[in-house]
Amino acid sequence: AVQLTGLRKRFGDLEVLKGVSLTAHSGDVIAIIGGSGSGKSTLLRCINFLETPTAGEVRLHGELVAMKPDGEGGFRAADPAQLNRLRARLGMVFQSFNLWPHRTVLENVIEAPVHVLGQNRDAAIANAERLLDRVGLLAKRDVYPEMLSGGQKQRAAIARALAVDPHAMLFDEPTSALDPELVGEVLSVIADLAREGRTMILVTHEMQFARNVASEIIFLRNGLIEEQGKPSDVFDNPKSEALRAFLAPKY
Ligand code: ATP
Ligand code: MG
Repeated sequence: AVQLTGLRKRFGDLEVLKGVSLTAHSGDVIAIIGGSGSGKSTLLRCINFLETPTAGEVRLHGELVAMKPDGEGGFRAADPAQLNRLRARLGMVFQSFNLWPHRTVLENVIEAPVHVLGQNRDAAIANAERLLDRVGLLAKRDVYPEMLSGGQKQRAAIARALAVDPHAMLFDEPTSALDPELVGEVLSVIADLAREGRTMILVTHEMQFARNVASEIIFLRNGLIEEQGKPSDVFDNPKSEALRAFLAPKY
């Protein structure tokens, strides 16, 4: 599970998150929606400490991530070893793929299992092949990322995230950099993971997809949760005026 309590994040004078609490229990699929600049990416990045929260608590798999003041009005992880151990089991997939360009697809997938989790290389390769097969990329195991289409890159990134057997998967707009005809192949892999009960927190602009796969929708606005609930309630019966405007057709 991933549990956030009263999470705040400030960049200088700009408070981007103003006290966000949410819990993703095992098997939950939480879709975060909201306008540009509402704090969606910052929220995801605080979960795995790519950004350090200014205040609040993060619990991963029930364990509180210990923090201490950084001397600049913020906080940082008090125990890097604890943070690395917890963070190693979060699979993060970004909009921009973030594969290592000088490593083959297979090498990308086995990197964290071998070098962070200390898995035996042969076992990591066998697992990577299974995952690449699952995302339809086994034939590309020995090519470099530049040889892949955007959709293939993103499926490789998903296989890489899965390779650490993550307690939770974090997706930040995984399809928004893709040509429209490549979106479906990536969404179908993510939908598959949702069906098998993976815990996921997903920032997306694909509303139809969010409705179909999410167990809960969170609408973020100005750094706060403005509305949350089951997809049917949030999409068919939005209570907040801002959410109604956000969901209204833009043309
Ligand atoms: P989008 O839908 O466009 O991706 P978002 O909801 O993901 O938007 P964030 O990326 O979380 O929004 O950014 C929220 C606010 O925080 C924005 O005003 C942004 O400019 C600001 N911000 C984000 N990262 C930083 C940073 N490292 N330093 C300063 N300001 C930042
Ligand atoms: Mg963003």
